[in-house]
Amino acid sequence: MNNIKKYPRIPEGGDVISYKDGELTVPDTPAIPFIEGDGIGPDIWQATRKVLDASVERAYSGKKRIVWVEIYAAGKSMEMFDEWVPDETVQAVRDFRVAIKGPLTTPVGEGSRSANVYLRQALDLYACVRPVFWIPMVPSPVKSPEKLDVVVFRENTEDVYAGIEFRAASEEAEKLRDFLRDTLGKDVRSGSGIGVKPISEFGTKRLMRKALQYAIRRGRSSITIMHKGNIMKFTEGAFKTWCMELARDEFGEIALTEDELWDVHGGRIPEGKILVKDRIADAMFQQILLRPDEYDVIIAPNLNGDYISDAAAAQVGGLGLAPGANIGDGLALFEATHGTAPKYAGQDKVNPSSLILSGRMMLEYLGWHEAAELVLEGLKKTVAKKTVTYDLERQMEGARLLKCSEFGRAIVDNMQ
Ligand code: NAP
Repeated sequence: MNNIKKYPRIPEGGDVISYKDGELTVPDTPAIPFIEGDGIGPDIWQATRKVLDASVERAYSGKKRIVWVEIYAAGKSMEMFDEWVPDETVQAVRDFRVAIKGPLTTPVGEGSRSANVYLRQALDLYACVRPVFWIPMVPSPVKSPEKLDVVVFRENTEDVYAGIEFRAASEEAEKLRDFLRDTLGKDVRSGSGIGVKPISEFGTKRLMRKALQYAIRRGRSSITIMHKGNIMKFTEGAFKTWCMELARDEFGEIALTEDELWDVHGGRIPEGKILVKDRIADAMFQQILLRPDEYDVIIAPNLNGDYISDAAAAQVGGLGLAPGANIGDGLALFEATHGTAPKYAGQDKVNPSSLILSGRMMLEYLGWHEAAELVLEGLKKTVAKKTVTYDLERQMEGARLLKCSEFGRAIVDNMQ
């Protein structure tokens, strides 16, 4: 067994990010843990790290710098410590507050746990945040991909993903069936698998608060509650009601309902206000295709949020470029949204954009907007010059094929 300490020491020059009264205080040299990830993780992490370091160096002329600290999970952690997710990894994210990770292998088979899910649960990272926007020139299946620019806030801890499920004909399922029939008067067909869908006022309101705070900070003009409350009244319907209540009670000065928009403001959102609308989940899938420019921030329970984030990402050219973050109160873990693509491991081949754009989200979260802007600019220019990795090259006429590391270098060269 390797004797590297699992709990990282802060390298010289690094300072810890602090959090008080809902605000982060970010030193000029924050210590930020990274998990490089499995499969293609090391390749995309190397490219990402260089891009992020170069953007910070250029934006602040050396006055700010990220002090990277390696922590471990999944494959590399198993190799080194024979542990899937060491407690020290969870503790390090808690202590350092902001971290970034590559994709992690999920073991196949019953009873094996996903390191991703475990980290989200252990750290109570209740908001899965996925910005979806088009990078010019990226091949897309729709006519006007530039019209979609949304940020999905997906609830991360509840709903049918809470893990309360019983196999058909198991003792537990039968007990639950008996209870439902004998005590609550509800019949479930025999031989059914049964899952439970908890959605709470607490879980919903804290997500809505975060989504509204984000919309205000980023100058977004609307937030849409995506739900299936017409059918599931006490879970998804309650989700909508609680979101609306929170907007009214805590953001009454800013939040506007659709009725108020038309009755009082003649259909125009006044400067500084945020329109709160709701859409039934199935209609929402049509809406983002047919009227993409009417949507801005979207808030959804876990399952709807999972579906809509991938559908939206496909609309602008796929998951290979989609960034993501899991955010709690004063804690955030930024991550590539794709998997470990094991067949490409170690080939220096794949597209690092998902992790690079997640790193850009991290810079924004730190308040380092100038550096974040440079990352996006470098990436956009690199793609516009048609110098891209295999996944885009195979779809773009006249493109030049770059390796993963070359693509990262090109982004650095293309920053102002
Ligand atoms: P995957 O790793 O996302 O790969 C599926 C395909 O997507 C690849 O074969 C490749 O397509 C394309 N792809 C993925 N990342 C790419 C990139 N950076 N650049 C270009 N193309 C990319 O999905 P998977 O094969 O289903 O899952 C593999 C492992 O990853 C599993 O253990 C799974 O549990 C895990 N996983 C982890 C996470 C996470 O850590 N967040 C998320 C999802 C899956 P082509 O073959 O067409 O080139």
